[in-house]
Formats: sequence, structure tokens, C-alpha cells
Amino acid sequence: MNDIFSVKNKIIVITGAGRGIGRFLANELSKRSAIVYAVDKTFSKKNQTNDYFQKKCDVTNKVQFQKVCKNILKNSRKIDVLINNAGITLPNNSTKDYPLEDWKKTIDVNLTGAFVCSQIVAKIMKKRRTGSIINVTSINAELGFPNNPAYVASKGGLKMLTKSLARDFGKYNIRVNNLGPGYIITDMTKSSYQNKKSRMTRQKHTLLGRWGVITDLVGPCIFLASDAAGYVTGQDIYVDGGWLANGLSE
Ligand code: NDP
Repeated sequence: MNDIFSVKNKIIVITGAGRGIGRFLANELSKRSAIVYAVDKTFSKKNQTNDYFQKKCDVTNKVQFQKVCKNILKNSRKIDVLINNAGITLPNNSTKDYPLEDWKKTIDVNLTGAFVCSQIVAKIMKKRRTGSIINVTSINAELGFPNNPAYVASKGGLKMLTKSLARDFGKYNIRVNNLGPGYIITDMTKSSYQNKKSRMTRQKHTLLGRWGVITDLVGPCIFLASDAAGYVTGQDIYVDGGWLANGLSE
């Protein structure tokens, strides 16, 4: 029987895949026979692999990303899926103003980077009139979290960028959707996970009573990448243990 969730032989580009969520997804997708190109500005020695391609590139550098795509086309002749996963967070709880420099850095990676990569890859996808772009947003796209205006604004912006691109690329059969994690245990959330009080506060706010783990993102990511989501575009899928649905934490 035809497996509508198959990603076999799909050419998948995933940014920010040197570690964390991106690296894990790259690995899981390649285990399912996708041809994966992991893009990151650094790949540590211990994270080297032969299971998928690793391309060194900073997503804020348009020329670098164009070169990466050119190279992918040479080898693989198409790109089926782009996952804009690269992201940074620069929280600041000082009483001083949030630094403009941190604002610019965050917007540059989380929002402008995803925009530029999407434009470059969409040009390639348009020729074949098929493709799926997945933007990794956050529950910060919906709610105001403290001391991190740049991150909240970048993810809110990314959420709406998705809808805008879904509107513009729909006629080329390119789907664009958001995958929004809740609190997932990675380097990015290490400090709040390691602090018992913050860990428990976050855990209690979910409906499932636990933090997310990177494996929680695999199914929703495969769904959006695969033909199973063939009529799904401009949507938000939150993988947050029910965080956004919770009206009251006790
Ligand atoms: P990590 O900090 O663990 O990993 C982020 C990865 O992105 C790193 O490999 C980093 O590279 C890379 N990266 C950062 N900037 C760039 C850049 N300019 N160009 C290329 N790669 C870059 O984060 P997570 O894995 O936790 O997060 C992945 C995504 O998920 C992010 O978009 C994040 O905002 C989002 N997210 C995460 C949540 C969580 O709870 N963990 C919750 C909601 C959303 P380097 O190693 O060089 O720094």
C-alpha cells in the first residue's frame, strides 16, 4: 500500500541542524530514507555523520545559502522540503533597555533568515510546481513571554510570514506551514530546565504535565513534509503538550 506519510527520496533541507531539534530531525528523516541536507554555521566534531549531508552556512548570509542550494541542485536536481529551523534566543532580564544589537541579531536569524532561505528555495520549487516549507515557530508566536521582546516578535513575525508565503506560493503548489514547539529539552532551554522552580512552573502549565522531548516533533514534521499534508497550507501545528490551550494553571 502507498504510504502517504513516506518521505523516501524526498530532498529535504533543514537549517540549524548542527545540534538540537534540527540535528535530531535530520537524523530521523534520513532514517526514513529522505535525502537530507543539514545546514548550520557550525558542525562540531562529535556531530559529524555520514547518514546525511552537512553544509556549513550561516542563514543570515544570502550568498552562502544560494551556493549551498546550487550545490544541492547539482547533486540532487530538486528540493522537495525546506525546514527553517535555525533560531537563536537572547533573553535579557537586566533593568536596562533590551539591547538593540540583540534585537537585530534575533530578527536577522529567526525571521529574515527564514524569509531569504524560503525565497531562494521557492524559486527552485516553483519550477516543479511542488514543495513544502516548514517554519519552526514557537508558542512565543502567540503569547508574550518575559524579557525577550526580540524572540517573541521574531516568532510572531515568522508565523505571519508563513501565511503570507502560503498565500503567494499556493498557486505553485508550494505549501508553507508552521511547526510550533512548546518547551522542549535542548541546549536552548537548558537553563530553565535545570532550575527546579522554572522546570516545574513550565511543566505544570502544560495539559500533559511534562516537558516536550525532541522525539515529540518527529511525527508532526513528517506529516507536514509528506504527501499526507497535501491540502494543508498556511497552518500552525503546535507541539506544546497543550500549553496554548490551557486557560488556568493550578
Ligand atoms: P539550539 O540552540 O539547540 O540549536 C539551534 C541551532 O541553530 C544550532 O545548531 C545553531 O548553530 C543554529 N543556528 C543559529 N544561528 C544560525 C545561523 N545564523 N545560521 C545557521 N544556523 C544557525 O535550539 P533548538 O534546537 O532548541 O531550537 C531549534 C528551533 O526550534 C529554533 O528555531 C527555536 O527557536 C525553536 N524552538 C525551540 C524550542 C525549545 O524549547 N527548544 C521551543 C520553541 C521553538 P550553532 O551551534 O552554531 O549555534
